[in-house]
Amino acid sequence: MSEEKNVTSNENADAPVRDDGRDLILEVNGLKQYFPVAKSFFGKPTAYLRAVDGVSFTLERGKTLGVVGESGCGKTTLGRTILRLYDVTEGSAVYHSKDSDGNIKDYDLASISRGEFYKLRTELQLIFQDPYSSLPPRMTVGDIIGEAVKIHKIVPQAEVAAYVRGVMERCGLQPHHYDRYPHEFSGGQRQRICIARALAVKPKLVICDEPVSALDVSIQAQIINLLKKLQREEGMSYIFISHDLSVVKYISDEIAVMYLGNIVEMGNTKEICQNAKHPYTQALFSAVPVANPHRKSEPVVLEGELPSPANPPKGCKFHTRCKYCTDRCREEAPIMTEVAPGHFVACHLAEESEQ
Ligand code: SF4
Repeated sequence: MSEEKNVTSNENADAPVRDDGRDLILEVNGLKQYFPVAKSFFGKPTAYLRAVDGVSFTLERGKTLGVVGESGCGKTTLGRTILRLYDVTEGSAVYHSKDSDGNIKDYDLASISRGEFYKLRTELQLIFQDPYSSLPPRMTVGDIIGEAVKIHKIVPQAEVAAYVRGVMERCGLQPHHYDRYPHEFSGGQRQRICIARALAVKPKLVICDEPVSALDVSIQAQIINLLKKLQREEGMSYIFISHDLSVVKYISDEIAVMYLGNIVEMGNTKEICQNAKHPYTQALFSAVPVANPHRKSEPVVLEGELPSPANPPKGCKFHTRCKYCTDRCREEAPIMTEVAPGHFVACHLAEESEQ
């Protein structure tokens, strides 16, 4: 480990990783991403921003894990760390690649060489939040979608154009869009182009980083439904990152709630929606609009700002904003506790009710 990686944390790096015989595509364990924010006279880092601070979870093949939390909670950094856009500080992210014969090969994405990682580039894709800036303005749609198809030889050269047109059709784009440029499209259509570009290389795991937050609500629904349809057809797995719990609820099989670099609650979507235990998750859910004119929603207002991940509070990181905070919360970080099968919570209240 390099000097920069030689950092410590007392947070829940040992949160449980479930492996109950399910067909897992990804197992993340104790993943950390620290960025140096101050250096000594000799250039040695003296302080770190703990963007991801010991995150553990598993993802089943063909399923969607929704990662939700406020801006600055580390969810985007988590996705980018898994895809090695940053060098990992500590921990593992084991990707179980399955070939067409059902043979499985394991890769720790956190530690494999750049060369090995490059070989997996078609299997692991990222859909960005901003469809405006993530498309090259001087390339036509056909070239944008076809570029990686050619580089990775997904189909023979002579069949690329027909293959790209087929992918475009599956993503709701018209054949005459093939020769058009990104600036000629609306936000929703540009996101369809981004999805088609990711889908064209036949990925197995797609990290969707706020893919609909820049779009109007009606267009959001179209894009979410498209992602769900493609998942049914192609069997891809998604990590769906969003600050919008109502969107995450709709698309996810499981939800992980992040706060200041840690997962504070995780479980299957129905269980988390109906039986949220962590005060932070409860506050997030209370702010989701209810589609029922007879039910009055009572949003829980969180006091104060999200503390800085460069200087997180001692004990439970949420204690500065939690109305149930006790002396223990100020001193001792809670550990992940299983409160129901597959439902984990990092809160002393949950720990105590389990005892
Ligand atoms: Fe609140 Fe304490 Fe639970 Fe943290 S551990 S969420 S401060 S009750």
